[in-house]
Amino acid sequence: MKTLPEYFGELVFGDAAMKERLPEQTYNALKKTMDEGKSLDITVANVVAGAMKDWAIEKGATHFTHWFQPMTGITAEKHDSFISPAQDGKVIMEFSGSELIMGESDASSFPSGGLRATFEARGYTAWDPTSYAFIKGKTLCIPTAFCSYGGEALDKKTPLLRSMQAINKQALRVLKLFGNDNVTAVKTTVGPEQEYFLIPVEMYEKRKDLIFTGRTLFGAMPPKGQELDDHYYGTIKTRVANYMAELNEELWKLGVLAKTQHNEGAPAQHELAPIFTTTNIATDHNQITMELMQRVAKKHGLVCLLHEKPFAGVNGSGKHNNWSLSTNTGVNLLNPGATPFENAQFLLFLCAVIQAVDDYQDLLRITVASAGNDHRLGAAEAPPAVVSMFLGDELTAILDAIENGSAYCAAEKERLKLGVHVLPKFPKDTTDRNRTSPFAFTGNKFEFRMLGSSNSIAGCNIVLNTAVAESLCQYADILESAVDFTSALHDLIRDVIKKHKRIIFNGNGYDDEWIREATEERGLLNLRTTPDAVALYTLPKNVELFGKHKIFTEAEVYSRRKIKLENYCNEIKIEARTMIEMSRREILPAVEEYMLATAKAANAKRKLIDGIDCSYEEKLVKRLSELAYEIDKCTDDLADALKSVKKSLYPDICERSMAYKDKVVTAMAALRKAADEAESITAAKYWPYPVYADLLFGII
Ligand code: ADP
Ligand code: MG
Repeated sequence: MKTLPEYFGELVFGDAAMKERLPEQTYNALKKTMDEGKSLDITVANVVAGAMKDWAIEKGATHFTHWFQPMTGITAEKHDSFISPAQDGKVIMEFSGSELIMGESDASSFPSGGLRATFEARGYTAWDPTSYAFIKGKTLCIPTAFCSYGGEALDKKTPLLRSMQAINKQALRVLKLFGNDNVTAVKTTVGPEQEYFLIPVEMYEKRKDLIFTGRTLFGAMPPKGQELDDHYYGTIKTRVANYMAELNEELWKLGVLAKTQHNEGAPAQHELAPIFTTTNIATDHNQITMELMQRVAKKHGLVCLLHEKPFAGVNGSGKHNNWSLSTNTGVNLLNPGATPFENAQFLLFLCAVIQAVDDYQDLLRITVASAGNDHRLGAAEAPPAVVSMFLGDELTAILDAIENGSAYCAAEKERLKLGVHVLPKFPKDTTDRNRTSPFAFTGNKFEFRMLGSSNSIAGCNIVLNTAVAESLCQYADILESAVDFTSALHDLIRDVIKKHKRIIFNGNGYDDEWIREATEERGLLNLRTTPDAVALYTLPKNVELFGKHKIFTEAEVYSRRKIKLENYCNEIKIEARTMIEMSRREILPAVEEYMLATAKAANAKRKLIDGIDCSYEEKLVKRLSELAYEIDKCTDDLADALKSVKKSLYPDICERSMAYKDKVVTAMAALRKAADEAESITAAKYWPYPVYADLLFGII
């Protein structure tokens, strides 16, 4: 049997395979493309394609696919075999450089948000040589970007790569000013922690809500939830451990740096975190991870739920996007340095993030907005909808001192001047256990915690990269023309702190008082739901930001807004229809049956013993009957609500999504309330599907 280091990355055409199989010149040319974004020559591509094909065939591959990330939120692939007819009726295996670099694809069935006119349905996929090709099953998967023929982005990778270029360009300008002449590239890095639930497949199959929507639409609270905190970091059950072991193995073969695993807060909830890597690779790897989590679960008789709030009343699942930026010389720019000059540089990059998060709170909130996440944010271990930043007391005190020109350390009684004093050492990783903060500094990186577990991490990193690029661009503009660099730098940092400190909050984000202070005193946004948030996507400042850094054209921003809101409406529509079906075909018949059985029992009792007390049955039948009436009425109301939000009545997508929220989501909540009460008084054997207690404690 192979050991882990032996099989790690064996299904990836990575650096080792390339070095081994490519002529030195080709390898160097490809490396240059990967490291510095130089464009790739077709002759180089031909050689790479040949080597890649031979390697893949040796590993048992018969097909190749351009693997891409359309706006559906999942990945897409269309397989082509390597075969090509030979003269003697046989086949040879072929794969050319042009097939590697570009593929054509019918884009008409992927969401484009109105970008793609129907007469131009073609789209194309373009190889992203900075993310390694890998083998899945019998297919060589080539990570690609997906665009229309007009060049508009139809996917999540294209703008992500554009945003990485933007931040690279601006960060290099700033680094030059600090004399870092040997730095030639800056890349952002991400380590996404991924939460998920596991439940037994037989239970899953009995619930239409899980099958159609990924979450439970009905379900009363079980006698035991997560009150005892006995699941978090608890011993991992054998069945789950076996699942994790196989998942890790599959991930390692694909070069994913799966590192940490543990039980999470809610029963049946777990987490997996990889070691961080370059953002676009981390994004590809996270998609692969989510896909494998689900596939491997099936082999173990389990289902992996990636929905952000599969169960009301217990923790939802999030995804923490740990983000930083580092140079090709290996320096993490968010690591407080050891020398005064490095500290000034660190503070400037810190300011860039503070300003970015403050100026583009709305965009960050939008990237995590979805029907599912609306149920999660603001409760049970998830941050509120107000975006704020946690810096910790120490760093906040330093920023205060700079702002006020006062002494940071009372004992020193000296003014804190940049470039003169060394910052105190920050105890890494102990800076933050404040789980209520949406955006926390954790020693040498920022952790954005608003993402739902099924979210692609591309969205928030596009915004983060671009918004920070904009801060850095403004700083470079100022500092490049400064006469006295040090004093200009000092003034700049002080001004940024003054202007943007409102976004910094180290307290409890769950506190109602904070929400009041944030909105009323600090003027921060509280975008509670997806329609509230996404409407702001197209604000002029946002369109300008994306346009300036060449991430999205105005048309692309509008298309993204439309896709997000249409997804929102569609998800709710499916949920509402599922509820109606479950209510009419399963819940009401079950309640009716139990009611009848109870009434029959009372009659039987009376027959047996004249005048016997049947008040229990009477009370129960009465309550069941009332609830049946209520459920029926709420179901009708929900059906009416659905009819009332038709596209023909609300042609504007922003208004339509608002109507879905106000009418349909409200009607769903009312129906659920009545049905959940019925569940809690209906005999277990009559209830048509597994309840929360079964689902959450089903794995033994
Ligand atoms: P916690 O649960 O305390 O937040 P974890 O160790 O589970 O911490 O996750 C931290 C994540 O942050 C890991 O994926 C880790 O690789 C990642 N990380 C560490 N340093 C960086 C960095 N410089 N850039 C991006 N991510 C980082
Ligand atoms: Mg974390």
